[in-house]
Amino acid sequence: MTGGRVEPADQEINSFLTPMHSHLRKQVRQFAEEEIRPRIADMEESRTVDHELSRLIAQQGWIGVTVGREYGGMAMGHRAKTVIIEELARVSGAMGAMVQASQLGVAKILHFGNDEQRSHWLPPIAAGACLPTIATTELDSGSNVLGMKATAERDGDSYILNGRKVFVGNSHVGDLHGVIVRTGEGSRGLSAFLVEADRRGLTVSPQQPAMGLHGFSFGELIFDNCRVPRENLLGDEGDGLAVAYASSVLYGRPNLTAVSLGIHRALVEDTARFTQTLGRYGGTLSDLATVKQKLGEMRSQLMTARILAYHAVCLLDQGMPCDPALMNAKLFNVESSLDSARTAMEVHAAHGLGTDKPIERYVRDAHHIYAPAGTSDIQRLRLAEELLGTAGPQWSVRLRARLVMSDAPVAARRAV
Ligand SMILES: Cc1cc2nc3c(=O)[nH]c(=O)nc-3n(C[C@H](O)[C@H](O)[C@H](O)COP(=O)(O)OP(=O)(O)OC[C@H]3O[C@@H](n4cnc5c(N)ncnc54)[C@H](O)[C@@H]3O)c2cc1C
Repeated sequence: MTGGRVEPADQEINSFLTPMHSHLRKQVRQFAEEEIRPRIADMEESRTVDHELSRLIAQQGWIGVTVGREYGGMAMGHRAKTVIIEELARVSGAMGAMVQASQLGVAKILHFGNDEQRSHWLPPIAAGACLPTIATTELDSGSNVLGMKATAERDGDSYILNGRKVFVGNSHVGDLHGVIVRTGEGSRGLSAFLVEADRRGLTVSPQQPAMGLHGFSFGELIFDNCRVPRENLLGDEGDGLAVAYASSVLYGRPNLTAVSLGIHRALVEDTARFTQTLGRYGGTLSDLATVKQKLGEMRSQLMTARILAYHAVCLLDQGMPCDPALMNAKLFNVESSLDSARTAMEVHAAHGLGTDKPIERYVRDAHHIYAPAGTSDIQRLRLAEELLGTAGPQWSVRLRARLVMSDAPVAARRAV
């Protein structure tokens, strides 16, 4: 027991982590308990984005955890990123999602930005003064990225963007949107642009109420003849699919894995504690054999989920091929957290239904992690393609080669 909460031991992941990670975990946990937990009730009640808290979290420097020191970043890599998101999401899935969405927005600048773009944007991002996003999804295409319709047309030294993006993580707090649009036909017809939130021709639709993740925004961006200078093109024309896939595979999957893991931990810890405090049959609920079976199953699922999450990002930090490990980590974490959510509700029975306990919040939040960075169907599809030998080269391999060839700063290469 720590701080009155039952917690599974960290020992199953110790071989992936160093004392530096443990120190970071303590810092993030303390912040989450002191600064985030007291605001959860307000976020749940208002059901809207929490601007102030999002800024406060960004100011801790955590959005720049994979950004090199030459840009003011923490240069601590993907394991540290997972520690940060897991600890935040353990207290608030919404704030874990907020941080992951902006860290996902960092990927495209690190991997595809030129020297000027990195020097201009990475320092304010690392300092927490600029929250980046990535906007790929459209209402009529969803998982099928190539089905997108939004366009950018070249006009002299500018491009003019038109179309709509939906479910954009941090839509309502983002300062710099990374937008993937069509500049031509087919898979080489997508390009990526940096679009500042206050640019004329870009509007954000009013936030729509959602089932969970209250405090986080994932809304709609509308581009209506939005003119951006040519310097805002990321990579070359035609690199848009690579920007979208690479960001999703190398950052999106491990990031959402970590959010799912944090919510899963909260579910297991709070359920175990509940069984020790509710009196039944002259003892507590935790004395019942059926309840112990359920707790043991939740513990087993969480343990496996955690090992897969940290193993995958450990490979990523070491520059090893790891696309299947990242897919499997996302798949298993999401599915097992949803399984544990159901088990937790069963153990709580009627007590889990009220909003005075956080269980129903965890259940709602856990469902939000299914779709982004590939649904479980998509992860299984990609894993099958790997198995059958029909998948393309791994992004964890492709991107390493690209970074080495592009003479990127050393810290940025290490961050991959
Ligand atoms: C919390 C949250 C944050 C998000 N953040 C972002 C963000 O920052 N930026 C962004 O651009 N988008 C973001 N998204 C959108 C997310 O990427 C999409 O939800 C995702 O791509 C799936 O699209 P869809 O929801 O339209 O579902 P669809 O793609 O329409 O899928 C519907 C169903 O069909 C299945 N399906 C679809 N294609 C296949 C296939 N080929 N084979 C088998 N089954 C299939 C799916 O598994 C699912 O069950 C976010 C979404 C959420 C919920």
